[in-house]
Amino acid sequence: MSGNAASWASPQRSTLPFSEEHEILRRTASRFFQDECVPHRQAWEDAGMAPRQIWRRAGELGLLCMSTPLEYGGGGGDILHSIAVMEEQVRAGVNAPMLSLHNDVVAPYISRYGSSAQKAHILPRMTKGEWIGAVAMTEPQSGSDLRGIRTTARPDGDTWLVNGRKTFISHGCTADLIVLAAKTAIDGANERISLFLVEASGLRGLHRGPPLDKLGQADADTAELAFEDMRLPASSLLGELGGGFRMLSDRLVEERLMTGVGAVATIETALAHTLAYVKQRQAFGQPILNFQNTRFTLAEAYTEAAVLRTFMERCVRAFLHNKLDAVEAAMLKDRATDLQCSIVDQCLQLHGGYGYILDFPIARLWCDSRIAKIYGGANEIMKEIIGRAL
Ligand SMILES: Cc1cc2nc3c(=O)[nH]c(=O)nc-3n(C[C@H](O)[C@H](O)[C@H](O)COP(=O)(O)OP(=O)(O)OC[C@H]3O[C@@H](n4cnc5c(N)ncnc54)[C@H](O)[C@@H]3O)c2cc1C
Repeated sequence: MSGNAASWASPQRSTLPFSEEHEILRRTASRFFQDECVPHRQAWEDAGMAPRQIWRRAGELGLLCMSTPLEYGGGGGDILHSIAVMEEQVRAGVNAPMLSLHNDVVAPYISRYGSSAQKAHILPRMTKGEWIGAVAMTEPQSGSDLRGIRTTARPDGDTWLVNGRKTFISHGCTADLIVLAAKTAIDGANERISLFLVEASGLRGLHRGPPLDKLGQADADTAELAFEDMRLPASSLLGELGGGFRMLSDRLVEERLMTGVGAVATIETALAHTLAYVKQRQAFGQPILNFQNTRFTLAEAYTEAAVLRTFMERCVRAFLHNKLDAVEAAMLKDRATDLQCSIVDQCLQLHGGYGYILDFPIARLWCDSRIAKIYGGANEIMKEIIGRAL
């Protein structure tokens, strides 16, 4: 079993149409994460964030905004570029820099909904790693219930005056460009959500909290934001006034797809580590792979991983043809992240006490995995989306 099984954990099992260009990017990404990120993970965890220069380096290597149109300095590529990079990041076991958030969540807001002037101003900076992107939806009293946000943007002359708070914002400490969701209250009328492009550096009225102390992903910063009479120019409105909810819902499809891709990569990485471990670890005079429990546990996990990969790749193909809908993206996010957490937990169990020690990759994968069932929409919300469509 072992020789064949090991190949299940390799990207060669993928049936996605990666070209030579995608594979070159994959190799660049692998070297970047292994050589320039892995050695610093502990220092970044201690600091609660990665340093800015790593973003410039990622930009130099072509690892930023790969699917942003060429005319705005991006790579002009597709989601397979993002998938190749994400698979290598997961395999390396580092969360920072959070390239997928920057590339696959934030940049597409601007390339899809931004005006030509906004695109020309922002996207080249994001592609070079001069600016780090974030998206701020969640508030202390409302996460799943997006319509319940209380941050407001009120017109004041030719500016917007923003007041409110956000929490759990990835890149909250470091972001230069924040896609902000706020209720646009006009003439006291009841508000709809609009999106704003916040150029955060040195902006008066914007307060950032320290990095939140998290269970996992400690190398990537997550923080609270507060806005006190934060003044934005009229030109900072992104897309249609009051169209924020629709834009957020549309963009969450790609975010959930990439969360599913990350979950598959995490499962495959956890299984590869675990298979290597159970072959060499001895108990009762034999490798622990010899125990039927170990073989059955791994047999089921490899099978589930293979089935999941098939569905994930179907979703990727649908996305490549602009046909992935919110329901299938929710199905993938829900199932993939549930399996991620349960399989990584079983893999940790097979490591015994070493599985609990952070020097072992499986322990970090376990800590880093848990959030996947919560962010990008809690899995209960995914079930609501699926259930409503029945
Ligand atoms: C590390 C990290 C990074 C994050 N990054 C970002 C970011 O960059 N930007 C951003 O905007 N947000 C971010 N988030 C926020 C994340 O998206 C929210 O935490 C998530 O959407 C859940 O919202 P909540 O925490 O307010 O939970 P709540 O909405 O309070 O829900 C708590 C629980 O209640 C249950 N529940 C809620 N509603 C329902 C329902 N309708 N039916 C059944 N059960 C339900 C679920 O079990 C849910 O997990 C991040 C969070 C973390 C921890």
